[in-house]
Amino acid sequence: YTTLRLVLGDQLNASHHWYQQPNEDVLYVIAELKQETNYVTHHHQKICAFFAAMENFAIALQQAGHEVLHLSLDDTHTYHDLPDLILSLCQQYHCQAFEYQQPDEYRLSQQLAALKIPDVTVQASDSDHFLLTLAELDQYVTPNKHHRMEHFYRAMRKRFGVLMVEGKPQGGKWNFDGANRNKLKAGDIEHIPQPLMFSNDVSAISKRLEKHNINTIGQSCEQLLWPTNRKQSQALLSYFCRDLLPLFGRFQDAMTTKSESAWSLYHSRLSFALNTKMLHPMQVIQAAIDAYSQPDSKIDIAQVEGFVRQILGWREFIRAIYWVNMPYYGQENTLEASGSLPDFFWDAKTNMQCMHHAIKQSLDYSYAHHIQRLMVTGNFCLLTGITPSEVEKWYLGIYIDAIEWVEKPNTLGMALFADAGVVATKPYAASGAYINKMSDYCSSCQYDVKKKTGLNACPFNSLYWRFMDKNRELLANNPRVGMLFSHWDKLDDSEQSVIVEQAEYYLRHINSL
Ligand code: FAD
Ligand code: SF4
Repeated sequence: YTTLRLVLGDQLNASHHWYQQPNEDVLYVIAELKQETNYVTHHHQKICAFFAAMENFAIALQQAGHEVLHLSLDDTHTYHDLPDLILSLCQQYHCQAFEYQQPDEYRLSQQLAALKIPDVTVQASDSDHFLLTLAELDQYVTPNKHHRMEHFYRAMRKRFGVLMVEGKPQGGKWNFDGANRNKLKAGDIEHIPQPLMFSNDVSAISKRLEKHNINTIGQSCEQLLWPTNRKQSQALLSYFCRDLLPLFGRFQDAMTTKSESAWSLYHSRLSFALNTKMLHPMQVIQAAIDAYSQPDSKIDIAQVEGFVRQILGWREFIRAIYWVNMPYYGQENTLEASGSLPDFFWDAKTNMQCMHHAIKQSLDYSYAHHIQRLMVTGNFCLLTGITPSEVEKWYLGIYIDAIEWVEKPNTLGMALFADAGVVATKPYAASGAYINKMSDYCSSCQYDVKKKTGLNACPFNSLYWRFMDKNRELLANNPRVGMLFSHWDKLDDSEQSVIVEQAEYYLRHINSL
């Protein structure tokens, strides 16, 4: 072979320009690597999903006539790391060129950029996945500066002509959030569809993980419910557009314990298929718009706009923030948080029903939806001041879709406000009242959401006011937060100190909450 081309586990994009023509001089390598299984401790299902999808991609490439080398952990475990493997393969196959697609993660991009192979030319190409190329990100985002996602999103709508009619936003508004974000009422719960789950046999991968002593977290499985090839990914997309999109935005922020489908609700669960590049973002956006545009469609503009915003807006925005600011992104620890992650993040054994439910389903399915990640577990870590790097490791390990470019700005910026306000203008801090408004968690909780102090008072309440009080200097000038202090200021000093003491008590006993 004259050329060796590397395909990373999150580059399973069959439409990449590399694959237009089979070429017998080009060898594609797809390799399970120990370094990818242990840069953080991952969920068992996450590693199985990546490895299974890689294997399927290797088979699909072979069937399309390409030369492919699929290496399992059994084949690669003796190599120290990825560069070590590449060097050895280039020698073994007498390659004159090594090519890779630009990784989405800084860690891997540095590793590959540093690669020097004697007598071999090294070249990187675009991954052909995102809507914006890496080179044009700084036209939209400036390093170390806050940008409003809404401005970015409108620019993207215009640039790509998505949901636009004669230069104006379809439906007359850019954002229909006002019509969305309802709580699930009793009558709504019985109508939540069953999630579409696959049954992929990953027993061989599971055995390999055991054989090579790979540490994992969460519920292990032999039959994986996540999509591991393009066909399954497309089926999940079609299922979403037909059965879930009609109520996606309306219940986007809702949480319940009262349904078998409580873990997934109306969410698409497409993040794994998107982040591994089995689906292209524009393909997903187009499928949603096509479903909305059908003459007999039950999907209103608020639902489709809400969904499109997540992918055209948030997903591309978060990636731009990451790449424009790396390697310095999120090193600030703005709120000087230094606590340790409580043990119940690893076993869900907590009396706080909201935390129990969000963590349990993360351990069971390697999945929680955005509001659970942001306003339940993320909010808890924010209010209790857990060290950002510890929180980050948890998010990066546990979720099926967790890759650093998307996890980092979401965790450090959005959930923890640790990035000096690059992603969010204010911390997403909330008391139990928010959780009670959006869920039915509190009705079956041992804690009382109405109480700030005393026996069984909801921990989120006192922790919230302690957090606000402690960070007053930083927050009071923010117009979106400042007014909240008027409520606190109405309490006299002794009432305030009882609340702060209650929070301090909870912090001292954080592992028993
Ligand atoms: P849906 O609710 O159906 O949304 C559709 C799609 O929109 C998602 O698949 C995703 O591609 C995109 N999207 C929505 N919100 C965001 C966002 N804030 N950032 C980027 N894309 C978004 N997402 C990841 O893909 N990987 C992560 O590691 C990750 N870590 C997160 C950590 C925290 C603390 C928070 C608050 C959010 C994180 N998110 C992450 C964003 C979001 O929660 C997930 O994308 C979403 O829950 C995935 O589920 P879904 O596919 O059912 O999403
Ligand atoms: Fe969570 Fe407090 Fe509600 Fe319990 S009462 S579920 S701890 S918000």
